[in-house]
Amino acid sequence: MKAIRIHHHGGVEQLRYEETADPKLRSPDDVIVRLKAAAVNYSDIQVRQEADAQRPFLPRILGSGGAGVVTAVGSGVKQLKCGDAVCLYPQSGCTACWACRSDRQNFCEQPQRLGEDADGTYAEYLRERWQNCFRLPAGLTYEEAAAASGAYLPAWRMLMTDAQLKPGEWVLMRGIGGPIATAALQLALSVGAHTIVTAAAGEQLARALRLGAKYGIDESTQDFASEVRRLTGKRGVDVVVDCIGGDGWAKSLAALGRDGRLVSCGASAGAQPSTDLLRIFWHHLKVFGSCLGSRDEFRRMLNYMTNTRMKPIIDQVYPLTDAAKAQQRLAQGNHFGNIILRIDG
Ligand SMILES: [Zn+2]
Repeated sequence: MKAIRIHHHGGVEQLRYEETADPKLRSPDDVIVRLKAAAVNYSDIQVRQEADAQRPFLPRILGSGGAGVVTAVGSGVKQLKCGDAVCLYPQSGCTACWACRSDRQNFCEQPQRLGEDADGTYAEYLRERWQNCFRLPAGLTYEEAAAASGAYLPAWRMLMTDAQLKPGEWVLMRGIGGPIATAALQLALSVGAHTIVTAAAGEQLARALRLGAKYGIDESTQDFASEVRRLTGKRGVDVVVDCIGGDGWAKSLAALGRDGRLVSCGASAGAQPSTDLLRIFWHHLKVFGSCLGSRDEFRRMLNYMTNTRMKPIIDQVYPLTDAAKAQQRLAQGNHFGNIILRIDG
């Protein structure tokens, strides 16, 4: 089969479109998926750039999100058959630890994550356990389902599980245009929250406002914490989604009203910002971190998409051969929503 692999860590020049062996069924629980689309995520770029002593294997097929069609099933698989359209939960656990035994593979200490610990979705075929293959939500294309498999799960965990967002609450999303922030905006709108977004580019703010965001704040020219106070009558927001960190982290805390919740799954602008602990306990703030939802959350999120007819926002679709261009577009930060690789053949 054809796949995008890295043999060394580094820039996009390390992404090689090349022939590699087709995956084979190894256990009774395995299925083979003919991939139709793969999501391009920030984690793919990090894996390409940085060697990780915990994850040394090379060459490696990148990609943690994807969707496709089942083409082979192991002897123990009763729940899926050849021809089923599926999207992929991106991580398997060790199956033995306390987390895996309670179906919380996202807490496993020896995870097998697609594109990081195991070969990923930038490929024509993938071997996966049937438990990680979920039926495509009704009405979604493979490209949209690949996006659901990538950015929407962390957004779901942060807003629905951690922050427990309620209708009528105020939510601030930093860095709109990013796949996770944009997914969070869609979820927040769907539950009837008041939404404020920030960005450093006017076009991304304009698109978010067209999508239904109530207010947009340009971080490059405005202090978003004081602007949030002004927009909310000094009260502050109930929830902040901050996957950027850096110098804006303190402003995110300052934008929260009393009993507010800050959720985070990224730190693209810096992982060690200063934090005002006095503000956290005086204002009864809660800070939630996460990096992946559970399989059960994935199932519920896909059902929610079916029931609400939510469709992931696609920024641009590239052929698999243009994985470098796709990653460059994500890194440049001018996108709005999800960047997807289409896998023909
Ligand atoms: Zn485990």
